[in-house]
Amino acid sequence: MPYCKYCGVKASTIQNLTANHCSRHPKGLNKGQHALYEGDETGPYECKYCGTSAATIQNLTGNKCYRHPAGPNKGQHEPAL
Ligand SMILES: [Zn+2]
Ligand SMILES: [Zn+2]
Repeated sequence: MPYCKYCGVKASTIQNLTANHCSRHPKGLNKGQHALYEGDETGPYECKYCGTSAATIQNLTGNKCYRHPAGPNKGQHEPAL
């Protein structure tokens, strides 16, 4: 089942997933659509910026990343593929 790499929300199809705004989009709240997570579907998930790992996408992206490209704690962790 496809799910978003920013917030972990699941959808029945990729079209349904990417049709809706994402509450954890890197540009800000609802500033863009959900984006398909294309990596391994089994956890744990690691942040591509800092290496922090979490059991679920929701747990990973729910926290600020101290190595975010926009600046320390200026965005959420983002899962590596
Ligand atoms: Zn999302
Ligand atoms: Zn991080």
